[in-house]
Amino acid sequence: MTDPVLIVGAGPTGLTAALELSRMGVAVRLIDKRQAPAATSRAIGVQARTLELFEQRGLAEEMVRLGNRGRFGSIYGGGKRVFRLDFGHVESRYPFMLLISQAETERILREAIARQGVTPQGGEHFRLIASNPLSKASKGAEPSLDELQRIYDQRSHIPARFHDLAWSSWFRINSRMVSRLKVGRLLLGGDAAHIHSPAGAQGMNTGIQDMINVSWKLAMVVNGQAPPALLDTYEADRLPVMRGVLFKTDNLTTVIGTENPIVRTLFNHLGPFIGGAELVQENATAGMSQVVLNYRNSSLSESHTHGGAIRAGDRVPDMPVRLRSDGNWKETTLLSALDASHLTLVAAVPDGTTLPSSLKACVPESRFVEIAADAKDAARFETTFGKAGAAVLVRPDGYAGLTSPISSAADHLAAYRRKWFSASAADARS
Ligand SMILES: Cc1cc2nc3c(=O)[nH]c(=O)nc-3n(C[C@H](O)[C@H](O)[C@H](O)COP(=O)(O)OP(=O)(O)OC[C@H]3O[C@@H](n4cnc5c(N)ncnc54)[C@H](O)[C@@H]3O)c2cc1C
Repeated sequence: MTDPVLIVGAGPTGLTAALELSRMGVAVRLIDKRQAPAATSRAIGVQARTLELFEQRGLAEEMVRLGNRGRFGSIYGGGKRVFRLDFGHVESRYPFMLLISQAETERILREAIARQGVTPQGGEHFRLIASNPLSKASKGAEPSLDELQRIYDQRSHIPARFHDLAWSSWFRINSRMVSRLKVGRLLLGGDAAHIHSPAGAQGMNTGIQDMINVSWKLAMVVNGQAPPALLDTYEADRLPVMRGVLFKTDNLTTVIGTENPIVRTLFNHLGPFIGGAELVQENATAGMSQVVLNYRNSSLSESHTHGGAIRAGDRVPDMPVRLRSDGNWKETTLLSALDASHLTLVAAVPDGTTLPSSLKACVPESRFVEIAADAKDAARFETTFGKAGAAVLVRPDGYAGLTSPISSAADHLAAYRRKWFSASAADARS
């Protein structure tokens, strides 16, 4: 048995890494310097993409049951609503931002890892000694109830009275990220790799998705199913995502937090018109919900044109499909046909015609699924996979690794597998 992977920090990022690795048969040791989980208020917004990924891990149902569906997000200023986002535009089974306390999200993750036999070890420190030229910032008194009430009254026109303040704190917005995510055998993710304004509810969601990206790669390398070079694609996939999150959260914070009276007046007057445009709504909610983020430019993405819209690096969209099972077709959803622990080779043909028999055996370590269009959304199926269909090798994190026309898929898949997944490649490159 190999040494366990050491995961430092049992926040949402570390808990997700522990869940993913243990699900895929990798031994882990999860440590945290705290004795008990944090109970203070931090993330409340869980995005649609995180919920889709949690659904595949059996966690979304409980979260949705316990949380509140935030269907709209509004920005208030000058005593009126300046901007309203309608999450109904998000193309997902979860067209909302789920509002649930981070403490609850962490509890659900902790229970999931406990089912895998993993318990965080509290009171353990991991110390990295490095020079730090910054002096410690001084902190004043915590914001009082009156102060919070004044701020609220100044911004919003909806009457509300605050009471029973349980906890309050000032915090300074930091915005920075590391330039590398992998240094030797050390992998970074979550707030340890990128920290930014909470505007847009991205931080925890990004940390969770960092770990869903890297864990399957690490598991395949540790289990001897892939060469170590597969782990380098963690940076290729996620660094651009992190840069995008910093860029967007910085801009959003500047706009909504500006003290400049001209910019503020402009925003307060133009916000309602800009926000009224359908295109703005679609783009803003698609970006914020993280359903459109993709890894198209990653070295792991290999697209061969097939007449449909899906390209390597894209999230495989959820939709109703028919799935061939024991020679019969049954109705299901594409998301539930994917395997979150293994590669899935999806052969998608709109009318479900028979496929070349060679295709199934192309990637033996993948689960092979044959899908056809469902009458409920046949047009979407055809737009995504093309009239003649497509073969898509889907990664365990739900993103397409390779896309190809069915007719030439066997050759493309064989070469892709030789490069990234075969045991011989693992031996040759280790
Ligand atoms: C006010 C506020 C609102 C927010 N709202 C949202 C939101 O709505 N949506 C969203 O997605 N994000 C939000 N965030 C961001 C979110 O809280 C963080 O991105 C998230 O907590 C990051 O998770 P993490 O596991 O990477 O880090 P953390 O949650 O900080 O966990 C790190 C863990 O590592 C432990 N640790 C640290 N150093 C060591 C060490 N040397 N040895 C051992 N253990 C160590 C710590 O004790 C801690 O338990 C918000 C943040 C704030 C402050």
